[in-house]
Amino acid sequence: MNIIGDLIKRSNKIVVKIGSHTLSDNNGKINMEIMHNIVGQLYDLMQKGKRIIIVSSGAGICGVAAINKWHRKEDINYKQALCAIGQVELMMAYKELFAEYDIHVGQILVSRDDFGDHSRNLHIRNTLFTLVDEGVVPIINENDSVSVDEIKIGDNDTLSALTANLWAADLLILMSDIDGIYDKNPKVNKDAQLIEEIYDIDKLMLRIDTTGKSDFGTGGIITKIYAARSVNEYGIPLVLVNGTKKDILRKIVNGTEKGTVFFGK
Ligand code: GLU
Repeated sequence: MNIIGDLIKRSNKIVVKIGSHTLSDNNGKINMEIMHNIVGQLYDLMQKGKRIIIVSSGAGICGVAAINKWHRKEDINYKQALCAIGQVELMMAYKELFAEYDIHVGQILVSRDDFGDHSRNLHIRNTLFTLVDEGVVPIINENDSVSVDEIKIGDNDTLSALTANLWAADLLILMSDIDGIYDKNPKVNKDAQLIEEIYDIDKLMLRIDTTGKSDFGTGGIITKIYAARSVNEYGIPLVLVNGTKKDILRKIVNGTEKGTVFFGK
């Protein structure tokens, strides 16, 4: 039985979150080979009739890679300036990669306020529906250059969960640099065991070590678990896979790779 593969096959509306650590190489530069492979896999899913929305991180790291300075600056204005530069680089990469398949992309930048306000909520929703209905792939990120702590969503795991709920997705896939949820941090524990199916998040929290965090991502394990809790409440399953592995979605579908799925109770 291939639970995650079957779930992907059955789902029509899929939100795919791609993390900074998935898109970048060890030096923090954008990894075009991985991005090319991911876009190809998403195109395959679209060819099978699936509708895709991307939530992509990477504005910060792309900004640093583009201008190669300010990465040690702690001031918020420099950080936001880097995101302003990097968001353009990021979108240029997606535009170029999807153009190979004659597909347009559309950028939507949001902050927490946008989800809390009924009218803005409706407008985001309608724009998403219109783009997707017309075969355009929406690419969402937080509006990092204007978001201060008070109005920040803060991490794209949460943003992708908000998006999946708003769009009433069938499935949320988080692409990260780990294979899924382990009972211990797999980067430091060789005997860590992958947990493939999760039905009870409270029980999971008692069982696992949630301190694992990657270098570039804002999230870490805990925001992924919260994202799962949030979408599961709306009946949307969340799948965690290792987006840095070539052909990961294809392999998950044919059962040669594994991930973690959260179904909720
Ligand atoms: N919005 C941030 C960026 O694009 C990333 C947030 C995250 O890593 O979750 O740089």
